[in-house]
Amino acid sequence: MILLQSLMKPPRLPRCFQTIGFLLVTVVIGAGCKTAPRPGAFEPRRGDEIMVAGQLVHTGTRVVLWTDPGGYDAYRVERRFAPLEKSDWEHSHDEVKDLTSPNRYNMRKARLSDEEIERVRGGGWDLPTLRKVVDQFVIHFDVCGVSRQCFNVLHDHRDLSVHFMLDLDGTIYQTLDLKERAWHATSSNSRSVGIEIANMGAYRDNEQNPFDEWYAKDPDGKTRITIPKRLGNGGICTQNFVGRPARPEPVRGVVQGTELMQYDFTPEQYAALIKLTATLTRVFPKLNCDYPKDPDGKVLSHKLPDDELNNYQGVLGHFHVQTNKTDPGPAFQWDHVIDSARRLLNGGMSEAANETSRGHMRNHF
Ligand SMILES: [Zn+2]
Repeated sequence: MILLQSLMKPPRLPRCFQTIGFLLVTVVIGAGCKTAPRPGAFEPRRGDEIMVAGQLVHTGTRVVLWTDPGGYDAYRVERRFAPLEKSDWEHSHDEVKDLTSPNRYNMRKARLSDEEIERVRGGGWDLPTLRKVVDQFVIHFDVCGVSRQCFNVLHDHRDLSVHFMLDLDGTIYQTLDLKERAWHATSSNSRSVGIEIANMGAYRDNEQNPFDEWYAKDPDGKTRITIPKRLGNGGICTQNFVGRPARPEPVRGVVQGTELMQYDFTPEQYAALIKLTATLTRVFPKLNCDYPKDPDGKVLSHKLPDDELNNYQGVLGHFHVQTNKTDPGPAFQWDHVIDSARRLLNGGMSEAANETSRGHMRNHF
């Protein structure tokens, strides 16, 4: 009681102490104002953030969101590249027979209870709920060559969508929040995040391929990507970018039992994908930083049997999901992407070194 009274009625201080007290309060409030946002203050962006259930997550590499200038917005009903006066849904539906739905995405419902579905049906996901659902990262090549054309095909012509597109220069475009169920990998759509990497795809020897149009040799023997004139500059974000495949000659390899050849992805694409892979596997605990392997540790080059696919939690190719797909093709460097992403997750150390150092720590203490 005495304590309470003393708190309620502080003893009267001499005037000079009152002045010091006033100054102290002023300083404390002033310091507080430095961290409290003021109405109208802009929140700075670094330009490397992806959006996950409404939260911005850093990747360490350039990301253009669908809300950014130059971004691609898969939430929009209108076609992105049709003449403006004919881009609305009525015209689009009439003119493109493959467009059957104004929305090219829907809700992730699998693995959610009725109560959870009711809670998130308006789009209001929270991160813990999304973490329960997402456990696969599906890699595609786009057979469009550049991301702008990829969005044109997916959104304006095919009734499809994907969370990320990765352009030749390593720019990542995010077109939808990861909370959405994008339409890119049939049976894995509900549980996966998808990325379309700009690349002209993989072909059999006796099959027509677009390599002559898309690749040329410089006088010094280096291979250069030549975007066809009909695509302008291809919408590449980096001015005057010259793209080169990571390996100069087409790479041969077997996918779904058929030998295919394909030009490799660019070093800029690998660098960005490694950072995105590390980011996603950190954000989603069920998504392992790994790929489907045979007993020798080599990537499995065919669709996973249904029960294995059902149980698989990690990074995988579209060809692991469907027998009629060959992407991301024989050139894709699984070990490079996954090993490098693991090193990033382990603070720059290799998996083995990290294990060893942990062992040392355990022995030491
Ligand atoms: Zn695909």
